[in-house]
Amino acid sequence: HFRCRSAFKLLEIDDKYHLLKPGISVIDCGAAPGAWSQVAVQRVNSAGERPDSTRGHVFGVDLLHVVPLPGANFLSNRDITSPATHTELQKLLPEAYADVILSDMAPNATGHRELDHERLVYMCLSLLELAEKLLRPGGSLLCKYWDGALTHKLREGLSRAFQDVKTVKPNASRKESAEFYFLARTFRKTWI
Ligand code: SAM
Repeated sequence: HFRCRSAFKLLEIDDKYHLLKPGISVIDCGAAPGAWSQVAVQRVNSAGERPDSTRGHVFGVDLLHVVPLPGANFLSNRDITSPATHTELQKLLPEAYADVILSDMAPNATGHRELDHERLVYMCLSLLELAEKLLRPGGSLLCKYWDGALTHKLREGLSRAFQDVKTVKPNASRKESAEFYFLARTFRKTWI
């Protein structure tokens, strides 16, 4: 069973877009309590449950503690926006690159909708720095955002770095919520 219902959102998105394949390396940003990482571990085969498939890697980062999970390598009590965390990930990643960056990160909601939206947009934009350092050319980024006035800024930022950016709203995400995901595919290495 999964640690959190959010797993169903990633399962649904991945069933449609096939981001997670055996053998690839994934960074899960805002990993606690670890449900997305559980999905990623299964799909990239990082616990080696399917001996006939290649074994992948899952690295999860969170400000909070994340309870250990076979097949995942958690960096607890880390800020994903910090360059020190990027360096740490770089050392851990096989070949120093990730194939996919997942982010279900969210700031502690203040209840002030526009402010929460803005903070999450800036957190997502900071993932572009992470991508520039650690994402393989051709790689993908999936990130949660709360819709609002700066959504177009986030889309523009992602579109400079990725060939294809689309909005995704999984059925498992409540219809009335402002929560959406951007799926950005085919990373261009030199977009700055
Ligand atoms: N996807 C997770 C799962 O399925 O278990 C749930 C993620 S939860 C909605 C959002 C997480 O983002 C929180 O645990 C929070 O601590 C984390 N977070 C927020 N800001 C962060 C940051 N700057 N660096 C790392 N994690 C962060």
